[in-house]
Amino acid sequence: MFTLAEVENVTGSPGQYTVSLKLSPRYVNESCTCCGDCAKACETEIDSEFDFGMKKIKGAYLPFEMAFPARYVISPQIIGTADAEKCKEACPYGAVDLSMETKTIDLQVGAIVWATGWEPYDATKIDNLGFGQYQNIVTNMMLERLASPNGPTRGTITRPSDNKEIESIAFVQCAGSRDENHLPYCSYICCMASLKQATYIRERYPEAKIYIFYIDLRAPGYRYEQFYKKIKEDENVFFIKGKVAEVSEDPDSKNITVVAENAVTGEKIHQTVEMVVLATGMQPTAANAKLPADLTYNEDGFIINDFEKGGMFAAGCANKPADVVSSNQNATGMALKAIQTLMKR
Ligand SMILES: Cc1cc2nc3c(=O)[nH]c(=O)nc-3n(C[C@H](O)[C@H](O)[C@H](O)COP(=O)(O)OP(=O)(O)OC[C@H]3O[C@@H](n4cnc5c(N)ncnc54)[C@H](O)[C@@H]3O)c2cc1C
Repeated sequence: MFTLAEVENVTGSPGQYTVSLKLSPRYVNESCTCCGDCAKACETEIDSEFDFGMKKIKGAYLPFEMAFPARYVISPQIIGTADAEKCKEACPYGAVDLSMETKTIDLQVGAIVWATGWEPYDATKIDNLGFGQYQNIVTNMMLERLASPNGPTRGTITRPSDNKEIESIAFVQCAGSRDENHLPYCSYICCMASLKQATYIRERYPEAKIYIFYIDLRAPGYRYEQFYKKIKEDENVFFIKGKVAEVSEDPDSKNITVVAENAVTGEKIHQTVEMVVLATGMQPTAANAKLPADLTYNEDGFIINDFEKGGMFAAGCANKPADVVSSNQNATGMALKAIQTLMKR
């Protein structure tokens, strides 16, 4: 298992590939016990990437609880500063090694499974939905972190402008999805993710009003359909079939008004809420940074499996938008394909 590792180059053919890996320095070695003394000594604070910038962390940090390996990292942002030296001095185990450098290694492998997954679509690209312009508009991934017990608010769902616990919230489905100007495809999970997030809100705030604006609600499969039916029974969850056209902010209250046309009644709706969640889709990682191997992609950047050629296989969201269960099933299949490549040699 190589962490902080990036594939730089792949040459060869099925059964005999050479993979060049770039291993970035952690500046902390295997003697780390996660005591956190380095973080206590470090004064520099940086944005937490894991919490989408909603929290500051020290320049010496554990990336997240359950991080593997369970070791602190010294941010490259403080390397060469007096703070880095302070971290080194503070470590009672000699685990901080500021002389670590980037390494490149070559591996000989017979088959490769690309499981490079997805990234959230950049919501700042969706001009009419106000992300980055209005503080109380967040993305679904940000809400995941807000609702998480180990997140920036320790699970309290508060809005960014004043940390007020929310009483009303709107979900904007297909934010940038099924839209020729952004992601033309359905990301499969966003409807279910919003329904799930509605339960996070309901568990904490029994009276909160939840508005879900959608084009079509997609609940693929029997279990997901049952889940959708259960949420529909909640009298404080309002489903509005209508694409959100615009959003605006009240400068005093910082509340957001969402404007949409109800496709069922034809009525124009102006719904004011305390916070808005954009259900942004999943974009394959390879769409923005092509992988250094001879792979075929569809027009959206998902890797197309070429089973005739064999040798390299894409699993999970590298191949198509999917939930965790489908990604796992698909990955098991692709691992078997990889094993078959070796057996056929
Ligand atoms: C808001 C939201 C909520 C969701 N909630 C649920 C849920 O409740 N249940 C559910 O089933 N699904 C949920 N999903 C979907 C779920 O996140 C995906 O199904 C799942 O993450 C797909 O797994 P994956 O392994 O294919 O990709 P990923 O989870 O994206 O993993 C890919 C990994 O590859 C690494 N990587 C990428 N590029 C490189 C590279 N070049 N070199 C080395 N490593 C690289 C990444 O760092 C990452 O660790 C949700 C999605 C969203 C957007």
